[in-house]
Amino acid sequence: MKRFLAVLFLPLLLGPIMAQPEQSAANIKADMAFLASDKLKGREAGTPEYDMAAKYVADQMKQIGLAPMGAKGSYFQHVPLLAYRTRDQGVLSLHERSGHATPLVFGTDYLVRGNPLSADLSVDAPLVFVGFGVVAPEHRRDDYAGLDVTGKIVVALSGAPKFLQSEERAYYGNARNKLAAARAHGAVGFVLVDTLTGEKLYPFANAVRQYQSWGMTWRKADGKPFVPSPLPVLASVSVTGAHKLFGTDTGRILAAAETKEGDVRGFALPLSLRAVLHSEIKTVESENIVGLLPGADPKLRGEYVVLSAHLDHIGVTPPVNGDSINNGALDNASGVATTLEVARLFHGKASRRSVLFLIDTAEEKGLIGAEYFAHNPTVPRSSIAADVDLDMPILTYDFTDVTAYGADRSSVGPSVRRAATRMDIKLSPDPEPDEGIFTRSDHYRFVEQGVPAVFLVTGFANGGEAATKFFLKNHYHKPSDDLSQPIRYDVGAKFARLNYQITRELADGTRPSWNKGDFFAAKFAGKK
Ligand SMILES: [Zn+2]
Repeated sequence: MKRFLAVLFLPLLLGPIMAQPEQSAANIKADMAFLASDKLKGREAGTPEYDMAAKYVADQMKQIGLAPMGAKGSYFQHVPLLAYRTRDQGVLSLHERSGHATPLVFGTDYLVRGNPLSADLSVDAPLVFVGFGVVAPEHRRDDYAGLDVTGKIVVALSGAPKFLQSEERAYYGNARNKLAAARAHGAVGFVLVDTLTGEKLYPFANAVRQYQSWGMTWRKADGKPFVPSPLPVLASVSVTGAHKLFGTDTGRILAAAETKEGDVRGFALPLSLRAVLHSEIKTVESENIVGLLPGADPKLRGEYVVLSAHLDHIGVTPPVNGDSINNGALDNASGVATTLEVARLFHGKASRRSVLFLIDTAEEKGLIGAEYFAHNPTVPRSSIAADVDLDMPILTYDFTDVTAYGADRSSVGPSVRRAATRMDIKLSPDPEPDEGIFTRSDHYRFVEQGVPAVFLVTGFANGGEAATKFFLKNHYHKPSDDLSQPIRYDVGAKFARLNYQITRELADGTRPSWNKGDFFAAKFAGKK
């Protein structure tokens, strides 16, 4: 009788019985099917469709058995946002001392993105070119040496010299750090100029297509926007526009930027820039979703390993091939679905430390939801032991290697190595240092708060190079990043298991710590 009952009823109670990997693949498929559906219209932060996705994630967390760890006993952490975009195409012109003026052409020479601090902005100042605008004392490099930019507009190339180590190159190439350097030197405006490498990776025409999309930052307790370097970005200039700035020097400058040393000397340009810009600014409300798996060890339960993944994507944009919904199936429905699956894999076997699952908003606007959480964590900041970030796993091939960004800067590295070895997955050096990946996802906001972090990207082996390049060229931030891609949900299950193993190592072993003298530890670790 008992046996009969078990055979008859257990499948009804538990659903179809599947082996773990098949169950994981089915779970990931179900989550992605909802999150990347047209109904959610690309999950842009601040839209009702993002909120629907957030509610879905909170429901999943509840079903999984995670404790609510947002605000006021809920899964939601309210994130007050400020959104801004340009109201028009701006009016920009270059002026020689003779009085001769050259207009810059929107969409060909430059584009503007709006300003969070002032709706109407008018700047007229001389231009000073500062090369990459890198100040790196450890390499005895100062692109501002001998230049006076006080009261002037700084013109800097995008990216950073190729000789720099991958993650440090990402740091120096990050626009926020360039702005900080320009402001520290007394500049009154900033112009970013594309390099040949930049144009190849992210064609100017793609950015022009989306120039009216909203940028965002978060609002502080006093209601003011968080803007770490309040220096206006007046324009992004294309390679075409560079010729108007640099004249006959353009070829030499762009070629020097491509060399390993990237030794591009700056100089005062014989030009002033007049820029008249109008921005639309509004407040927007959104939510991070936070769930907790309490640790099993009473001594370590008060420390947290954070798993982060962004839920938002870029919403609706002008159509490509008749489709305007950016479903974000692999950016980042795949990362959210695999993160939720990591939570399921912990079921019934809690780790010693607690694990905090942070599904965050406004990543596509500049890692804003994660930044808000890192500045306003729902657990004591000093208790956050590490962050593991899941963003844009490309699940169209069976990866056999990964690049673990950030891992080798702390004791997270050996943990990642052990976890990968157990699954027969190899660790590869960064195959795309031009991309500056280390500062481009949510884990970096934890690094800025002094927290060791790791971000896994599926590798180039076993067909990965072709699959990755195909995705970046054809689907990245386009409406075609949808569920019609040949998604391997079994590979999603494998990616979830690998991140589970890593998280498990970090949550059970000694607390992660930075390597002595590490670059990012020196920059940020005093903050804890
Ligand atoms: Zn993205």
